[in-house]
Amino acid sequence: MINLVLFGPPGAGKGTQAAFLSNEYQLIHLSTGDILREEIAADTKIGQIAKDIICRGELVPDTMVINLIKEQMDKNPTANGFLFDGFPRTVPQAEALDALLVHYGRSVSAMLSLEVEKEELVNRLMNRGTTSGRSDDSNRSVIENRIEVYNEKTAPLIQYYQSTGKYEAVNGIGSIEDITGRLKRCIERVP
Ligand code: UDP
Ligand code: MG
Repeated sequence: MINLVLFGPPGAGKGTQAAFLSNEYQLIHLSTGDILREEIAADTKIGQIAKDIICRGELVPDTMVINLIKEQMDKNPTANGFLFDGFPRTVPQAEALDALLVHYGRSVSAMLSLEVEKEELVNRLMNRGTTSGRSDDSNRSVIENRIEVYNEKTAPLIQYYQSTGKYEAVNGIGSIEDITGRLKRCIERVP
């Protein structure tokens, strides 16, 4: 049983790589960004709250994303494991995830951190904006804000996972297949 946190700044390639890895290792792919976009599309109460926050590139409240994750984990009690993509994004979220996993008798196996420098991230997101239809991808100042929010609130998770020996840095520059290969080599070393 393996539970992976796929980590990295916006545009690092988490979603792309999560699709390959969840298939390869039979893990349930949980992307809080995707879940929130579904809530927005369905115009639910959560979606209505999340919409403006996402447009500005800020973070949706911890309790909201934690509850969404819990709901998905409860729905999949016999899962082989989970691949968390874009979650946790804050230290309180990471603490809540640990507590949830303890409840199921599990733990985070590894945190795989895709490392990509800022200039490349902005280029990738501006590019994605031309096809993704995501308003938060098309606007340079929103993209810059997402990266700032990442540096301020999310990057501290590197230390959080380093302190328990779960942090694995992976070079996020290269072809999609090369990066998948790097991630797989890390996963195969996970105890
Ligand atoms: N978001 C959030 N909490 C989450 C996931 C997403 O607040 O747990 C919001 C946040 O505003 C973020 C946006 O949704 O900028 C898009 O998230 P996603 O993970 O899809 O973007 P990525 O980082 O993969 O580009
Ligand atoms: Mg994503």
